[in-house]
Amino acid sequence: MTSMVTDEQARQLAKSFNGRIALNEPMRKYTSFQIGGPADVLAEPHDMRSLSAVLRWGWNEGLPVFVLGNGTNLLVADEGIRGVVVRIGPGLDDVRFDGDRVHAMAGVSLPALARACADRGLAGLEWAVGIPGSFGGAMAMNAGAYSHTVGDVVREVTTLLLDGSISVKTCEEMQFAQRSSRLSHGDLVACEAMLQLERGNPEEIRRQMSEYMKDRKIKQPLHLPSAGCVFQNPSGRGAGRYIDGAGLKGLRVGGAEVSHVHANFIVNVGDATARDVLILMNVVRRSVYDKFGVELVPEIRVVGG
Ligand SMILES: Cc1cc2nc3c(=O)[nH]c(=O)nc-3n(C[C@H](O)[C@H](O)[C@H](O)COP(=O)(O)OP(=O)(O)OC[C@H]3O[C@@H](n4cnc5c(N)ncnc54)[C@H](O)[C@@H]3O)c2cc1C
Repeated sequence: MTSMVTDEQARQLAKSFNGRIALNEPMRKYTSFQIGGPADVLAEPHDMRSLSAVLRWGWNEGLPVFVLGNGTNLLVADEGIRGVVVRIGPGLDDVRFDGDRVHAMAGVSLPALARACADRGLAGLEWAVGIPGSFGGAMAMNAGAYSHTVGDVVREVTTLLLDGSISVKTCEEMQFAQRSSRLSHGDLVACEAMLQLERGNPEEIRRQMSEYMKDRKIKQPLHLPSAGCVFQNPSGRGAGRYIDGAGLKGLRVGGAEVSHVHANFIVNVGDATARDVLILMNVVRRSVYDKFGVELVPEIRVVGG
Protein backbone atom coordinates (compact mmCIF):
# COMPACT_ATOMS: atom_id res chain seq x y z
CA MET A 1 0.00 0.00 0.00
CA THR A 2 1.39 3.41 -0.96
CA SER A 3 1.54 6.00 1.81
CA MET A 4 -0.65 9.10 1.38
CA VAL A 5 1.90 11.14 3.32
CA THR A 6 4.97 12.39 1.44
CA ASP A 7 8.44 12.59 3.04
CA GLU A 8 8.25 16.39 2.75
CA GLN A 9 4.90 16.49 4.63
CA ALA A 10 6.32 14.24 7.38
CA ARG A 11 9.41 16.50 7.67
CA GLN A 12 7.19 19.59 8.04
CA LEU A 13 5.18 17.92 10.83
CA ALA A 14 8.30 16.74 12.68
CA LYS A 15 9.73 20.30 12.73
CA SER A 16 6.91 21.81 14.81
CA PHE A 17 5.51 18.81 16.70
CA ASN A 18 5.95 18.21 20.45
CA GLY A 19 5.47 14.47 20.68
CA ARG A 20 6.46 11.23 19.00
CA ILE A 21 6.01 10.59 15.28
CA ALA A 22 6.51 7.25 13.54
CA LEU A 23 6.17 6.53 9.81
CA ASN A 24 4.71 3.27 8.45
CA GLU A 25 4.08 2.16 12.01
CA PRO A 26 2.49 -1.32 12.40
CA MET A 27 -0.86 -0.88 14.12
CA ARG A 28 -0.67 -4.36 15.63
CA LYS A 29 1.61 -2.78 18.26
CA TYR A 30 -1.24 -0.50 19.35
CA THR A 31 -4.26 -2.84 19.35
CA SER A 32 -5.30 -5.36 21.99
CA PHE A 33 -6.08 -7.81 19.15
CA GLN A 34 -2.38 -7.49 18.07
CA ILE A 35 -3.65 -7.20 14.49
CA GLY A 36 -3.30 -4.43 11.91
CA GLY A 37 -1.06 -3.19 9.10
CA PRO A 38 0.90 0.09 9.02
CA ALA A 39 -0.38 3.61 9.62
CA ASP A 40 1.22 6.11 7.21
CA VAL A 41 1.92 8.37 10.20
CA LEU A 42 1.35 7.68 13.86
CA ALA A 43 1.49 10.83 16.00
CA GLU A 44 1.46 10.84 19.79
CA PRO A 45 0.93 14.42 21.00
CA HIS A 46 2.22 15.05 24.53
CA ASP A 47 0.06 18.08 25.30
CA MET A 48 -3.05 19.91 24.12
CA ARG A 49 -1.09 22.35 21.95
CA SER A 50 0.57 19.59 19.97
CA LEU A 51 -2.73 17.70 19.67
CA SER A 52 -4.36 20.78 18.20
CA ALA A 53 -1.30 21.38 15.96
CA VAL A 54 -1.28 17.87 14.48
CA LEU A 55 -5.02 18.05 13.78
CA ARG A 56 -4.61 21.42 12.03
CA TRP A 57 -1.67 20.05 10.06
CA GLY A 58 -3.69 17.04 8.85
CA TRP A 59 -6.61 19.32 8.01
CA ASN A 60 -4.48 21.79 6.03
CA GLU A 61 -2.73 18.96 4.15
CA GLY A 62 -6.09 17.34 3.32
CA LEU A 63 -5.10 14.07 5.04
CA PRO A 64 -7.57 11.70 6.72
CA VAL A 65 -7.17 11.55 10.51
CA PHE A 66 -8.06 8.61 12.73
CA VAL A 67 -8.17 9.06 16.51
CA LEU A 68 -6.75 6.15 18.51
CA GLY A 69 -7.14 5.52 22.23
CA ASN A 70 -5.86 2.24 23.71
CA GLY A 71 -6.92 0.27 20.62
CA THR A 72 -9.04 -2.19 22.65
CA ASN A 73 -12.16 -2.03 20.53
CA LEU A 74 -10.60 -2.08 17.09
CA LEU A 75 -9.97 -4.40 14.20
CA VAL A 76 -7.42 -2.64 11.97
CA ALA A 77 -7.21 -3.89 8.36
CA ASP A 78 -4.14 -5.84 7.21
CA GLU A 79 -3.50 -3.02 4.70
CA GLY A 80 -3.27 -0.56 7.59
CA ILE A 81 -4.56 3.02 7.81
CA ARG A 82 -3.86 5.74 5.23
CA GLY A 83 -3.20 9.25 6.51
CA VAL A 84 -2.59 10.15 10.16
CA VAL A 85 -3.37 8.16 13.28
CA VAL A 86 -3.39 10.43 16.34
CA ARG A 87 -2.96 8.47 19.55
CA ILE A 88 -4.46 10.04 22.68
CA GLY A 89 -2.55 8.68 25.67
CA PRO A 90 0.37 9.70 27.92
CA GLY A 91 0.67 13.46 28.33
CA LEU A 92 -3.06 13.85 27.82
CA ASP A 93 -3.98 11.91 30.95
CA ASP A 94 -4.32 14.37 33.86
CA VAL A 95 -7.11 13.90 36.41
CA ARG A 96 -8.27 16.68 38.78
CA PHE A 97 -10.76 16.40 41.63
CA ASP A 98 -13.19 19.09 42.71
CA GLY A 99 -15.45 17.68 45.46
CA ASP A 100 -17.60 15.01 43.83
CA ARG A 101 -16.76 16.33 40.36
CA VAL A 102 -13.84 14.92 38.38
CA HIS A 103 -12.07 16.54 35.43
CA ALA A 104 -10.32 13.82 33.45
CA MET A 105 -8.36 14.01 30.22
CA ALA A 106 -9.19 11.57 27.44
CA GLY A 107 -5.82 9.78 27.50
CA VAL A 108 -6.14 8.43 31.06
CA SER A 109 -6.84 4.71 31.14
CA LEU A 110 -10.36 3.89 32.31
CA PRO A 111 -9.20 1.45 35.04
CA ALA A 112 -6.70 4.06 36.35
CA LEU A 113 -9.47 6.68 36.43
CA ALA A 114 -11.86 4.30 38.21
CA ARG A 115 -9.21 3.44 40.83
CA ALA A 116 -8.26 7.10 41.40
CA CYS A 117 -11.94 7.89 42.03
CA ALA A 118 -12.26 4.91 44.42
CA ASP A 119 -9.20 6.13 46.36
CA ARG A 120 -11.02 9.42 46.99
CA GLY A 121 -14.23 7.67 48.03
CA LEU A 122 -16.08 8.60 44.84
CA ALA A 123 -18.63 6.05 43.62
CA GLY A 124 -20.02 5.67 40.09
CA LEU A 125 -17.17 4.11 38.08
CA GLU A 126 -16.72 0.76 39.88
CA TRP A 127 -18.01 -1.16 36.83
CA ALA A 128 -15.28 0.40 34.63
CA VAL A 129 -12.30 -1.10 36.43
CA GLY A 130 -11.89 -4.06 34.04
CA ILE A 131 -12.45 -2.22 30.76
CA PRO A 132 -8.99 -1.78 29.25
CA GLY A 133 -9.65 1.33 27.09
CA SER A 134 -8.81 5.00 27.47
CA PHE A 135 -11.39 7.39 28.91
CA GLY A 136 -11.72 9.04 25.46
CA GLY A 137 -12.36 5.69 23.78
CA ALA A 138 -14.88 4.87 26.51
CA MET A 139 -16.79 8.08 25.71
CA ALA A 140 -16.67 7.34 21.96
CA MET A 141 -18.06 3.83 22.55
CA ASN A 142 -20.26 4.72 25.52
CA ALA A 143 -18.50 1.79 27.17
CA GLY A 144 -20.38 0.04 29.90
CA ALA A 145 -20.84 -3.07 32.00
CA TYR A 146 -23.13 -4.42 34.73
CA SER A 147 -26.00 -2.08 33.63
CA HIS A 148 -23.88 1.11 33.82
CA THR A 149 -22.36 3.21 31.05
CA VAL A 150 -19.89 6.08 30.92
CA GLY A 151 -22.68 8.32 29.58
CA ASP A 152 -24.42 8.01 32.99
CA VAL A 153 -21.71 10.06 34.71
CA VAL A 154 -20.23 12.37 32.04
CA ARG A 155 -21.72 15.88 32.20
CA GLU A 156 -19.65 17.95 29.76
CA VAL A 157 -16.94 17.17 27.20
CA THR A 158 -14.30 19.47 25.72
CA THR A 159 -13.63 18.38 22.16
CA LEU A 160 -11.48 19.51 19.25
CA LEU A 161 -12.83 19.58 15.71
CA LEU A 162 -10.51 18.17 13.08
CA ASP A 163 -9.44 21.71 12.09
CA GLY A 164 -8.08 22.12 15.64
CA SER A 165 -10.84 24.40 17.00
CA ILE A 166 -12.48 23.81 20.41
CA SER A 167 -16.12 22.87 20.97
CA VAL A 168 -17.69 22.09 24.37
CA LYS A 169 -20.51 19.52 24.32
CA THR A 170 -23.16 18.95 26.96
CA CYS A 171 -24.16 15.43 27.96
CA GLU A 172 -27.24 15.69 25.68
CA GLU A 173 -25.13 16.86 22.74
CA MET A 174 -22.88 13.84 23.26
CA GLN A 175 -25.79 11.58 22.18
CA PHE A 176 -24.71 8.64 24.33
CA ALA A 177 -26.46 5.50 23.04
CA GLN A 178 -25.85 1.73 22.83
CA ARG A 179 -22.05 1.54 22.33
CA SER A 180 -21.98 4.84 20.42
CA SER A 181 -21.95 8.61 20.96
CA ARG A 182 -21.50 11.86 19.06
CA LEU A 183 -17.78 10.95 18.92
CA SER A 184 -18.50 7.84 16.83
CA HIS A 185 -18.63 9.85 13.57
CA GLY A 186 -14.86 10.42 13.74
CA ASP A 187 -15.06 14.22 13.22
CA LEU A 188 -14.49 15.21 16.89
CA VAL A 189 -11.69 14.42 19.32
CA ALA A 190 -12.53 14.20 23.03
CA CYS A 191 -9.84 15.96 25.08
CA GLU A 192 -11.28 16.29 28.56
CA ALA A 193 -14.57 15.73 30.38
CA MET A 194 -16.28 16.55 33.63
CA LEU A 195 -17.84 13.63 35.50
CA GLN A 196 -20.36 13.87 38.30
CA LEU A 197 -19.85 11.09 40.87
CA GLU A 198 -21.26 10.44 44.35
CA ARG A 199 -19.63 10.28 47.74
CA GLY A 200 -19.29 6.69 48.93
CA ASN A 201 -17.34 4.43 51.26
CA PRO A 202 -13.86 3.71 49.74
CA GLU A 203 -13.81 0.20 51.20
CA GLU A 204 -17.22 -0.67 49.77
CA ILE A 205 -16.25 0.82 46.38
CA ARG A 206 -13.05 -1.27 46.29
CA ARG A 207 -14.94 -4.41 47.37
CA GLN A 208 -17.41 -3.93 44.50
CA MET A 209 -14.52 -3.42 42.07
CA SER A 210 -12.80 -6.63 43.06
CA GLU A 211 -16.12 -8.50 42.67
CA TYR A 212 -16.36 -7.20 39.10
CA MET A 213 -12.74 -8.16 38.39
CA LYS A 214 -13.29 -11.68 39.77
CA ASP A 215 -16.35 -12.07 37.54
CA ARG A 216 -14.39 -10.98 34.44
CA LYS A 217 -11.52 -13.36 35.16
CA ILE A 218 -13.99 -16.24 35.24
CA LYS A 219 -16.11 -15.24 32.24
CA GLN A 220 -13.63 -13.68 29.80
CA PRO A 221 -10.58 -15.08 27.95
CA LEU A 222 -8.21 -12.47 29.37
CA HIS A 223 -5.12 -14.59 28.65
CA LEU A 224 -5.40 -14.16 24.85
CA PRO A 225 -5.41 -11.05 22.61
CA SER A 226 -8.92 -9.86 21.69
CA ALA A 227 -10.97 -6.70 21.30
CA GLY A 228 -13.60 -7.63 23.89
CA CYS A 229 -17.14 -8.48 22.77
CA VAL A 230 -17.33 -8.64 18.99
CA PHE A 231 -21.10 -8.16 18.63
CA GLN A 232 -23.61 -5.99 20.47
CA ASN A 233 -26.12 -7.82 22.62
CA PRO A 234 -29.48 -8.09 20.85
CA SER A 235 -32.31 -7.08 23.21
CA GLY A 236 -33.23 -9.74 25.74
CA ARG A 237 -30.30 -12.14 25.36
CA GLY A 238 -26.52 -11.90 25.21
CA ALA A 239 -24.92 -12.31 21.75
CA GLY A 240 -22.63 -14.96 23.28
CA ARG A 241 -25.61 -17.19 24.07
CA TYR A 242 -26.74 -17.17 20.44
CA ILE A 243 -23.20 -17.91 19.22
CA ASP A 244 -22.79 -20.71 21.77
CA GLY A 245 -26.30 -21.97 20.88
CA ALA A 246 -25.25 -22.20 17.24
CA GLY A 247 -22.39 -24.50 18.33
CA LEU A 248 -19.65 -22.10 17.27
CA LYS A 249 -17.33 -22.09 20.31
CA GLY A 250 -13.83 -23.09 19.18
CA LEU A 251 -14.53 -22.44 15.48
CA ARG A 252 -11.31 -21.25 13.87
CA VAL A 253 -10.28 -19.37 10.71
CA GLY A 254 -6.50 -19.04 10.41
CA GLY A 255 -5.32 -17.63 13.74
CA ALA A 256 -8.76 -16.33 14.81
CA GLU A 257 -10.95 -18.43 17.08
CA VAL A 258 -14.39 -18.10 18.70
CA SER A 259 -13.37 -18.27 22.37
CA HIS A 260 -14.15 -21.42 24.35
CA VAL A 261 -14.53 -19.23 27.46
CA HIS A 262 -16.93 -16.55 26.10
CA ALA A 263 -18.51 -17.12 22.69
CA ASN A 264 -18.85 -13.38 21.95
CA PHE A 265 -15.05 -12.99 22.06
CA ILE A 266 -12.88 -13.77 19.05
CA VAL A 267 -9.33 -14.43 20.22
CA ASN A 268 -6.05 -14.22 18.35
CA VAL A 269 -4.52 -17.65 18.97
CA GLY A 270 -1.43 -16.92 16.84
CA ASP A 271 -0.72 -14.51 13.99
CA ALA A 272 -4.38 -13.93 13.12
CA THR A 273 -4.96 -11.46 10.30
CA ALA A 274 -7.81 -8.97 10.08
CA ARG A 275 -9.05 -11.03 7.14
CA ASP A 276 -9.24 -14.16 9.36
CA VAL A 277 -11.32 -12.25 11.91
CA LEU A 278 -13.65 -10.74 9.28
CA ILE A 279 -14.29 -14.15 7.68
CA LEU A 280 -14.98 -15.67 11.10
CA MET A 281 -17.34 -12.79 11.99
CA ASN A 282 -19.27 -13.40 8.76
CA VAL A 283 -19.58 -17.14 9.46
CA VAL A 284 -20.84 -16.35 12.99
CA ARG A 285 -23.39 -13.80 11.75
CA ARG A 286 -24.68 -16.14 9.05
CA SER A 287 -24.91 -19.17 11.38
CA VAL A 288 -26.73 -17.23 14.12
CA TYR A 289 -29.14 -15.76 11.57
CA ASP A 290 -29.83 -19.18 10.01
CA LYS A 291 -30.46 -20.81 13.40
CA PHE A 292 -32.24 -18.03 15.34
CA GLY A 293 -33.27 -15.40 12.75
CA VAL A 294 -31.26 -12.84 14.77
CA GLU A 295 -29.02 -10.25 13.02
CA LEU A 296 -25.85 -9.68 15.04
CA VAL A 297 -24.45 -6.16 14.80
CA PRO A 298 -20.67 -5.67 15.30
CA GLU A 299 -19.58 -3.81 18.43
CA ILE A 300 -15.91 -3.65 17.45
CA ARG A 301 -14.87 -0.91 15.01
CA VAL A 302 -13.30 -2.07 11.74
CA VAL A 303 -10.90 0.57 10.42
CA GLY A 304 -8.49 1.05 7.53
CA GLY A 305 -8.01 -0.97 4.40
C1 LIG B 1 -10.69 -7.87 27.45
C2 LIG B 1 -11.62 -6.74 27.04
C3 LIG B 1 -12.77 -6.50 27.77
C4 LIG B 1 -13.64 -5.47 27.39
N1 LIG B 1 -14.77 -5.25 28.14
C5 LIG B 1 -15.61 -4.26 27.78
C6 LIG B 1 -16.81 -4.01 28.54
O1 LIG B 1 -17.10 -4.67 29.55
N2 LIG B 1 -17.63 -3.01 28.13
C7 LIG B 1 -17.35 -2.25 27.04
O2 LIG B 1 -18.13 -1.34 26.72
N3 LIG B 1 -16.23 -2.46 26.29
C8 LIG B 1 -15.36 -3.44 26.64
N4 LIG B 1 -14.23 -3.66 25.89
C9 LIG B 1 -13.99 -2.85 24.67
C10 LIG B 1 -13.13 -1.58 24.87
O3 LIG B 1 -12.22 -1.73 25.96
C11 LIG B 1 -14.00 -0.34 25.11
O4 LIG B 1 -14.89 -0.10 24.03
C12 LIG B 1 -13.13 0.92 25.31
O5 LIG B 1 -13.93 1.96 25.77
C13 LIG B 1 -12.42 1.37 24.04
O6 LIG B 1 -11.48 2.38 24.39
P1 LIG B 1 -10.11 2.56 23.59
O7 LIG B 1 -9.38 3.72 24.17
O8 LIG B 1 -9.38 1.29 23.55
O9 LIG B 1 -10.68 2.95 22.16
P2 LIG B 1 -10.07 2.52 20.74
O10 LIG B 1 -10.26 1.06 20.56
O11 LIG B 1 -8.71 3.07 20.57
O12 LIG B 1 -11.09 3.30 19.77
C14 LIG B 1 -12.46 2.96 19.76
C15 LIG B 1 -13.23 4.10 19.07
O13 LIG B 1 -13.14 5.28 19.88
C16 LIG B 1 -12.60 6.36 19.12
N5 LIG B 1 -11.82 7.19 20.05
C17 LIG B 1 -10.83 6.78 20.88
N6 LIG B 1 -10.38 7.81 21.62
C18 LIG B 1 -11.07 8.90 21.21
C19 LIG B 1 -11.05 10.29 21.58
N7 LIG B 1 -10.23 10.78 22.52
N8 LIG B 1 -11.91 11.12 20.93
C20 LIG B 1 -12.75 10.66 19.98
N9 LIG B 1 -12.83 9.38 19.61
C21 LIG B 1 -11.99 8.52 20.21
C22 LIG B 1 -11.79 5.72 18.03
O14 LIG B 1 -11.63 6.57 16.91
C23 LIG B 1 -12.63 4.47 17.70
O15 LIG B 1 -13.69 4.80 16.85
C24 LIG B 1 -13.35 -4.68 26.25
C25 LIG B 1 -12.17 -4.93 25.51
C26 LIG B 1 -11.31 -5.94 25.90
C27 LIG B 1 -10.06 -6.19 25.10
